[in-house]
Amino acid sequence: MTKTANYGAVLRNNIYVHELGDGIRLEGEVSPCVFMYPGYPLQVTVTLRRHSGESLGVAYAVDRALTVETATDADVSRLLSAIQSTSCGRCSEPAFDPATVETTRGGLCEACFVGDLDAELAKFAEAENRRLANRDRRMKAKGMTVRVSAWIHPAERGDDYQADWYFATRPTPAGIRKLLRKEGSIIPADFQIIDL
Ligand SMILES: [Zn+2]
Repeated sequence: MTKTANYGAVLRNNIYVHELGDGIRLEGEVSPCVFMYPGYPLQVTVTLRRHSGESLGVAYAVDRALTVETATDADVSRLLSAIQSTSCGRCSEPAFDPATVETTRGGLCEACFVGDLDAELAKFAEAENRRLANRDRRMKAKGMTVRVSAWIHPAERGDDYQADWYFATRPTPAGIRKLLRKEGSIIPADFQIIDL
């Protein structure tokens, strides 16, 4: 069987540039998964960049009809040239036009998108702290004097998770290590004793 040379075949780490004007450009790179998994559809990781090099966000362009076997440089260029930029819905910085490329940014620029995310996380952390403070107060009223907060590191599979215990009498570090080992943690020293 002879293999026909695929003229202009896509290469790993090849950067494709598409100028958008106004000091910004698109940089495309065929995603590593396309080279790693046979039959994976052509996917291009696209970065919106200022000419200074600053990244304004990343999006993905896909052509499901093509794979690494059939895609060419021209296909990547075609995908890139279909993508347009728009002004961020909030601060008018450049952003991907969500009508032209798959993005989770919803027409916001990277800074506004990340800012929203941070605000969301801060709100979540605040609610979590409030919840914990309320519980500490309740447990103290029940006669508990300390809270032990630990990260459980399971030996196999599964993510690390946090666990809390309350005690009326302060437990010894050895006692806590025993408790954490019983819980299945392979790093039984990852805990904190908090006085209520
Ligand atoms: Zn913005």
